[in-house]
Amino acid sequence: MAVGTFATAINCIDGRAQRPVSDWMRIQYSVDFIDTITNPGPEKGLIQGSQAIIDIMRANVEVSVSAHESQLIAIAAHHGCAGNPVSDEEHQAQVRAACQVVAGWGLPVRIIGLWVNEWWQVELIADSAAGRLQSR
Ligand SMILES: [Zn+2]
Repeated sequence: MAVGTFATAINCIDGRAQRPVSDWMRIQYSVDFIDTITNPGPEKGLIQGSQAIIDIMRANVEVSVSAHESQLIAIAAHHGCAGNPVSDEEHQAQVRAACQVVAGWGLPVRIIGLWVNEWWQVELIADSAAGRLQSR
């Protein structure tokens, strides 16, 4: 049994993006630890990646949810991403679409989409609890 509470982040491999997302989630949702699944530009991988890529991310998320009882999954994208060099607007659209993909996994969790802006600040751009997963 793990001691402490956990949430889950699907984030870029980029080391600059991980601490802002982890810190923001721990403060915002009062959890102790953030399990992090990384992939270069994971928002793109979730919607356009190979089935193998998606399956690995899903399997890792499921470990976090089952072993650590995570009830919150974030999909995060960031400004200046080498793994997915598209416009900020496109990143954000991909995050919302990726949230739908993760929602399709049927896990008993809240799903949020996060955008890490050019100042490494975290913005909430989708939230299944608020009925805002649809593209705006
Ligand atoms: Zn990146």
